[in-house]
Amino acid sequence: MRAWKNAFGASVGILLAGMLLAVGPAQGGSGARNVIFMVPDGMGLAHLTLARRHLGGVDGPPLALESLAKVGLQRTYSEGGAVTDSAAAASAWACGEKFANGRISCHDRNEDGHCDIPLPLTLMEIARVRGKSLGLVATSTVTHATPAAFAAHVPSRKCEAEIARQYLEETEVEVVLGGGFGDNEAPCPFPPMGSAGRARLLEEAERLGYAVVTDRSDLRRSIQEGTPRILGLFARGPLIPAHRRPPNCREPSLAEMTRAALTVLEKDPDGFFLVVEGSQIDWGAHRHDIPYVVGEISAFDKAVQEVQRWMDEDPHRARETLLIVAPDHETGGLTLLGPRETQWATRRHTGVDVPLWSQGPGSKALQGTLDNVEVFRVVRDSLHARAGAEDPRTVGPFPLPVRSAPKPIHPTE
Ligand SMILES: [Zn+2]
Repeated sequence: MRAWKNAFGASVGILLAGMLLAVGPAQGGSGARNVIFMVPDGMGLAHLTLARRHLGGVDGPPLALESLAKVGLQRTYSEGGAVTDSAAAASAWACGEKFANGRISCHDRNEDGHCDIPLPLTLMEIARVRGKSLGLVATSTVTHATPAAFAAHVPSRKCEAEIARQYLEETEVEVVLGGGFGDNEAPCPFPPMGSAGRARLLEEAERLGYAVVTDRSDLRRSIQEGTPRILGLFARGPLIPAHRRPPNCREPSLAEMTRAALTVLEKDPDGFFLVVEGSQIDWGAHRHDIPYVVGEISAFDKAVQEVQRWMDEDPHRARETLLIVAPDHETGGLTLLGPRETQWATRRHTGVDVPLWSQGPGSKALQGTLDNVEVFRVVRDSLHARAGAEDPRTVGPFPLPVRSAPKPIHPTE
């Protein structure tokens, strides 16, 4: 009996050790240390084929983004709509729920101009709780809908001044690079900030420790000096479209901004969460302007290449980084007929599914057909797997320094 007990005890021990080994890596850090979420806004499959064809011919080489190992399809409909806008689509990724078009990670079901409480928690806020640094890069105003949904909560995408304030004062995003700050405009319930309000916000940014830069050479200098926080506003509004950039453009390219963001963010031992948007692919498609679309996709793809180069420099980076390239919706209903013949169905967005490409920890779950809200769960779970189930910070409600009563999110949800 005793011998049996001993044998049983030993075998239980071995079994437990085996189970711990089996779950050990999952709890001890198999998830993502870094997340790089790249959005080619409005890019459907036809836009991609069009760009590839223009850059390398019908049988030309694949774009860099096509080299990502995992491919999936996303449904994009929004709350109450078959066709999403960028605000609802990015909010769905950021929070894992459907939102009405125009909302930035915010429901306002009684339409009183205030976000309903509790606020949904965004992926960036979850990354922040884990001590990660945050970055937003865009070629539109930096306060445009797609980056905004990750780092702000407002009832309207037109609340760009309030979005800017939240980036700096609430979410404290370390790296913000792109066009200027937009202002609050109707139907945003907040008053416009105007030039005086803008100057006050920039003063506040400096007080909070941001290096505020406005051109490419300032950006380079600040990065070389090792600034821990950087606010790069390289235009009043959006940046110059890629196909119109002059040879010595004083604005940095999307690839340059992406590299600058990585250089600042990679210093955080806890990792980072970076969103990079090729904002104007959508705008070119709204205008049915093929050189505009091709130029923007090419510039976006160079930013993807820059991320790949950064990963190639250190094998740990590729192993620990979840890289996602996800269009938010298709714009224009583009069809490719002959080698030079294209047809557009609309000046608006369409409701067709869009692809997504990914690699790194957790990306296996981004294959097959998904709803855009599921992308949130995959990224969140990858962040949880990294921290481990025993990490008290994985159990909500999170002690967020931002706003009131965030919705608790549990790792097993
Ligand atoms: Zn659009």
